[in-house]
Amino acid sequence: MSEKFDTSQLPRELASVFDELVARDPHQGEFHQAVFEVLSTLTPLVERKPEYQDLAIFERIVEPERQLMFRVPWSDDQGHIHVNRGFRVQFNSALGPYKGGLRFHPSVNLSIIKFLGFEQIFKNSLTGLPMGGAKGGANFNPKGKSDAEIMRFCQSFMTELQRHIGPNVDVPAGDIGVGGREIGYLFGQYRRIRNSFDAGVLTGKGLTWGGSFARTEATGYGLVYFAQEMLRARGDSFEGKRVVVSGSGNVAIYATEKAQQLGAKVVAVSDSSGFVIDEEGIDVDLLKDVKEVRRGRVSDYAAERPSAHFFSEGSIWEVPCDVALPCATQNELGLEGVEALIHNGVQMVAEGANMPTTPEAIDELRRAGVLYAPGKASNAGGVATSGLEMQQNSGRTQWPFEETDAKLHQIMVGIHENCLATADEYGVPGDYVAGANLAGFIKVADAMVAQGLI
Ligand code: NDP
Repeated sequence: MSEKFDTSQLPRELASVFDELVARDPHQGEFHQAVFEVLSTLTPLVERKPEYQDLAIFERIVEPERQLMFRVPWSDDQGHIHVNRGFRVQFNSALGPYKGGLRFHPSVNLSIIKFLGFEQIFKNSLTGLPMGGAKGGANFNPKGKSDAEIMRFCQSFMTELQRHIGPNVDVPAGDIGVGGREIGYLFGQYRRIRNSFDAGVLTGKGLTWGGSFARTEATGYGLVYFAQEMLRARGDSFEGKRVVVSGSGNVAIYATEKAQQLGAKVVAVSDSSGFVIDEEGIDVDLLKDVKEVRRGRVSDYAAERPSAHFFSEGSIWEVPCDVALPCATQNELGLEGVEALIHNGVQMVAEGANMPTTPEAIDELRRAGVLYAPGKASNAGGVATSGLEMQQNSGRTQWPFEETDAKLHQIMVGIHENCLATADEYGVPGDYVAGANLAGFIKVADAMVAQGLI
């Protein structure tokens, strides 16, 4: 059905699920890519779990429980009125309240939100915490907007979203373009409209009003904890490794920080305007100041750091490294990038972003025997710590940083073990992609079987 995806490699039962999905929504390329990647690892379940087919679990799990699209009108500082489109896709709530981030980026559309929501179902399942899967956002570009404009946009967005969410219903968080500032404005508007301090309605909150220590660091730290386990399983470590991290946002900054704490040297980071090489190792304090405080560009970092050089041409993947951590956005690492990495001797690619590596590039990594961690396992630390924030909100308490970070570490070690054990059980030892997909899927599917036809 879809020319881009070779359904002949799927069993007939799964191929027909995919063909129907493509026929129903033919223009949702990112969503097709995410579903195909999962389905292509589920072949063993067709025989081993006949009840999944009898109860149409495959058909049901690829269709969101609810998809919301809404108008977000707001006025800029000059009084001009703009209209954006808001989204919330509540994909699956078999394991708990819907949970997943909000993305504000001009590229946002229903396909992107559905791919992210679909991935989120299995990622949340892997954390072991009771969370369903969802994702949302808007095609709004926060770049260059004043704080007042961001606030008005967030208020308008939440004026509609608030009727669809709640601590036991759906708990959004941040993603690209949505950080602590935006969560603050969103929470303020929710509280004002609902006249209720429901701390558990959003995660990623400020530390004085219901936030969790280590949430800001969680995705990047969790990624490095997961990658550390992969290295450890082979008797290796981050000590002395040369690392390249794409992006310079929330995930990239804290992946850089943790990798360097573990003895690696991060020699390159990027943003959408280019990349920086810093042979002395990235100065994380300066990077945080440029990106988090001043909301600047990586070129500003290079301008202030004598050992750093900014490149607006070329690709960050041409920078030689032992470990590559794609932490920017979907499909940022294609075949050419992977070929350059392999040519320069890369040993491991671990995803901080969601679906950053294209299917052809993943095939090439496997062919070359490069260790590869799929994002739904390796970047699950963010949502796991959001789950810990929800636990703290329910108990009206706040755990110290060290305690929360230790729980995050333990969860990442657990996900790594679960991926490997599941891959072993299904006859694909060492395959992190199959291990993550199968482990995440089975838990959700079994809950759907138990809960009947809904
Ligand atoms: P941020 O908005 O903090 O940072 C995003 C970074 O990626 C920026 O450096 C940005 O550059 C770059 N980027 C974004 N879009 C593009 C693009 N189209 N081309 C090139 N560069 C781009 O987002 P996060 O760090 O929170 O998210 C990064 C990735 O991690 C996303 O895939 C997200 O879904 C995933 N993720 C995030 C989690 C979290 O807890 N935040 C949890 C799990 C996954 P620029 O500023 O120039 O746009």
